[in-house]
Order: sequence, then C-alpha cells, then structure tokens
Amino acid sequence: MSDSQPLETSSRIYQYSIISAFMDGQTLHGIPLKDLGKHGDFGLGSFQLADGEMILVDGTAYRMSYDGSITVAEPSTCLPYAMVTFYTPTVTVAVAGMLKPNFQKHIEDITPTAKNYFLAIRFDGVFKKMRFRIAKGQDVPGANVMKTITKTQRVIDMEDVEGTMIGFRSPGCYQGITVAGYHLHFIKKDRTTGGHCLDFEIQKGITGISIIRQIDIELPDSDDFCEADLTLDNEGIVKAE
Ligand SMILES: [Zn+2]
Repeated sequence: MSDSQPLETSSRIYQYSIISAFMDGQTLHGIPLKDLGKHGDFGLGSFQLADGEMILVDGTAYRMSYDGSITVAEPSTCLPYAMVTFYTPTVTVAVAGMLKPNFQKHIEDITPTAKNYFLAIRFDGVFKKMRFRIAKGQDVPGANVMKTITKTQRVIDMEDVEGTMIGFRSPGCYQGITVAGYHLHFIKKDRTTGGHCLDFEIQKGITGISIIRQIDIELPDSDDFCEADLTLDNEGIVKAE
C-alpha cells in the first residue's frame, strides 16, 4: 500500500451468525445486546423473529419498528444477526449530489487498494431522497425469512431528510456469510424513524470510511442453527437485501 492510499485500521468486524442462517429462518436465538456491545459501537442487525431493523450509532442501538417508530433497544434484547465494529474512520470526505450507484463508485474510487477488504461506512448529512424498508417480523418462528421479507416489509420514502447512514461493504465472495456489497441502515437525525436502505440520493454531507482486514464470526449455539439449510441462495439475498 503506497503512502497516498488510506491505511487500513486495526479495527475488526464482529459478526453474530451468518446471513444465510438468518434468511433460512434462524431468528429465535441471538446474542444479547449487552454482549454485542462489547464488540462494537457501530453497526447493524436484526431482532428476534426479524421484527424491525437495528442500527448501532455511537454506542446506542435503536430498534426501528414496522409501524415506523423507534425505541432504544433494551440491553437484554436478542439479535439473531448483527455486524458491528469499533468505528475508527481513516478516510473522511465531503460528498454532494450523488445517487446510490455514484456514492458507491466514489467509495471504491477513494479506497482503490481495498476492494478485497471490508469497509465500514458512515454518512452524516442530507438526503434528497431516501427509500428504506422495515421488516415486519415473522408470524411463524423458523419460517424462511428470505421468502417473506420482501412481501411483508414496509417501504418508506422520504425527501429532503437529514440523518445518518451506517453499514458495511463486503467483498463478493462473502455472499451468504454476510451480505456481499453494500449493506446500509438509515436513521433520521431526530431519531424518529429509519430502516434498511434500499435506495437514496445524497444532497450533501460527510462520509467516513474504515478499511478492515479482520472479521470474527460467532456461530449460534442452538439446535436450530445446527439444522438450518445453509445452501447459498444468491438471488434470494440480492432480492431481500
Ligand atoms: Zn439490513
């Protein structure tokens, strides 16, 4: 890595479970939030029965619920899937007037040596448009999340909204373990709503990036996990995420 390139940090990603298990319906058991917090102050995840979306911002985990409301998650809350890190950006840039694909291309352009590493990404600023979804939660524990999430999710569109977007970019070969490519969650600045980003247009703001070379994955200690069908469904993950 040359001197002109942003250096990777000593941070590591901690991930609980894998997205293939979550999508197969392994949503009943999880890591308590108080334990997850030992591994990071920044990240995203889901709740028991895939009920809502989780965003971890500056050490506070929020549950963004299907009805559009937000609560600070209780320390005892279980998360069946989560990806967190202690966020230490090595690159911070101002960005303006970018559609989602342009934003992603811009991130690739300013981290040219990092395409095979993980990136933790944070954006704070104003979105001209933000489309996000909130998972409804399962009626039947253990049912396949992949098959139901896009049918039951609530999609919310906002315009001229200020907030924070947090997430990760994972190399393509990690599909099924995590979500390959970009996985980003959004929370409104006043903390009144948010969810899993589907599409957006940035008006202006600041982006921070941390290049990460270390990932620690903890697999659930449950009978359900042992019986999960972990066959990779690339098409399903792309559709659901
Ligand atoms: Zn998500």
